[in-house]
Amino acid sequence: MSRRKQIYEGKAKILYEGPEPGTLVQYFKDDATAFNAQKKAILDGKGVLNNRISEFVMLRLEEIGIPTHFIKRLNMREQLIKKVEIIPLEVICRNVAAGTMAKRLGLEEGTKLPRSVVEFCLKRDDLGDPLVAEEHIHAFGWATHAEVDEMITMTLRVNDYLRGMFGGVGINLIDFKIEFGRLDVTMENGSVAHQVILADEISPDSCRLWDRDTDRKLDKDRFRRDMGEVTEAYTEVATRLGILKEANNVHAPNLSVVSNDD
Ligand code: 5GP
Repeated sequence: MSRRKQIYEGKAKILYEGPEPGTLVQYFKDDATAFNAQKKAILDGKGVLNNRISEFVMLRLEEIGIPTHFIKRLNMREQLIKKVEIIPLEVICRNVAAGTMAKRLGLEEGTKLPRSVVEFCLKRDDLGDPLVAEEHIHAFGWATHAEVDEMITMTLRVNDYLRGMFGGVGINLIDFKIEFGRLDVTMENGSVAHQVILADEISPDSCRLWDRDTDRKLDKDRFRRDMGEVTEAYTEVATRLGILKEANNVHAPNLSVVSNDD
């Protein structure tokens, strides 16, 4: 296949022009970064695993009526997605105190929160993605009131679904980060409206996932905190979800996948 035009390169993914107008190809790299890219590594096979896990999660969310940018997986590292205008906010949902919330509020990591909490951060790497209030979002026009309401509603639905999905395979969903985009939709009268849909990815790079019985971390904190066995943990998540047949081979070319359509 001829190389497509590159639209954007992020820390873990590359976006290429898609085959049809309004589409993009999302390529998952093996690069891992943390602490605003001050810490970097290549994790063999991570991109393949995240492509698979994100596909699985997005398809399940579509089934329960959450609109997403996912169209179809193209191969081991690429998926076809709808082109959207990314809303410049990271939406974080937390069930248990960890990471920056534990630090910010002086909570012991692992403390169950009285209820799920949704936070917004501004997508600005140069500022370290700072936490912002809804007041800031409205004052600076990053999203409309209606868009904020839709993002909160969808995030809580995603949280409910993912807690159940991961809970079913013995994993506690501690927190996660998602992103949304605006999709142009042509109405019956010919006018164009924006629909808010789920974009980016959902994977162990963007979630905290702890084993229910042992609290073993199965997510990117293993990389952030130098705990080792990062790809092994991602492989375990994929295996428990039924995406991989077995957890004993983490190298991309040999990943044993359930469907054989690559
Ligand atoms: P924290 O604010 O505690 O660092 O992160 C909360 C949750 O959001 C964690 O699951 C973390 O992985 C995710 N998260 C926060 N910021 C980012 C980011 O810039 N990239 C990714 N992939 N995940 C993030």
